[in-house]
Amino acid sequence: MRRVLSWGLGLQSTILAVMSARGELAPLDLIITADLGLERQATYDILEFYTDWLRKHGQNVVVLNTGDIEKQGADAHVHIPFFTETGASLRRQCTGHFKIRPIRRYIRKWLGYPPSKPPHPPQNSVEQWLGFSVDEYQRMKPSGVKFIVNRYPLIEKRIARWECAQYFEKHDLPIPDESSCIICPFHRASTWQHMKESQFGEFEIACQFDERNRHNPLAERDGSTADKLYLWRNAIPLRDVDFVSESEREKHIDTVQLNMFMPCESGYCFV
Ligand code: SF4
Repeated sequence: MRRVLSWGLGLQSTILAVMSARGELAPLDLIITADLGLERQATYDILEFYTDWLRKHGQNVVVLNTGDIEKQGADAHVHIPFFTETGASLRRQCTGHFKIRPIRRYIRKWLGYPPSKPPHPPQNSVEQWLGFSVDEYQRMKPSGVKFIVNRYPLIEKRIARWECAQYFEKHDLPIPDESSCIICPFHRASTWQHMKESQFGEFEIACQFDERNRHNPLAERDGSTADKLYLWRNAIPLRDVDFVSESEREKHIDTVQLNMFMPCESGYCFV
């Protein structure tokens, strides 16, 4: 069985790569990540630093360019989970389209099998590590394909998110933040607030994306009733949201509930 890390560029998946490279976890055959072209600059800095660091430590790191979520996500109607006026969100397709399927295709090819037709790799050919910490246990799920079995080493070792940050500090390594697309509708209010205060250029990209996609072209076709789309869940233009008050409100929501409201259930985003 080959061992692969799905590297989401966040705190928890990066620690798995580092611990494996340092011999504190089992060796990995492949560390793979997908670049959608619209991560925050802080995440690209982490990608650059750790790609270099991991390769210097003998790791096989692959960065896949899987498209441009800003353009294709809107123009090709790959559903980003925009919120509608009812408060519901569109079905999330971006994770599968830009992350899960390209990574699976790559792994199949790497194993020596054609990307999407028989013969298929044998059952359990790959152990895929995902970086969920023990406080995120509710996000665990099967891989969805027979040849990949998901493993969650941080949950198995009962390691919490805050302990991951301590580990990086102890080893004098940069601490990754949450990784996610700039325009992700599942950002918490505190994340939007932070972006607005500290990375205004990125917040502006998100506001313009929000405004550009307000009218849902699919609403004119059969099968879609959502007319107006929003990046913020209360159907308020991003530019007008009071994130200070919303962040306060979030403090009273319990962690389990907040974790359910996280992007990319595959674990490829934000970990
Ligand atoms: S971070 Fe958000 S927008 Fe980006 S792929 Fe994941 S769910 Fe989609």
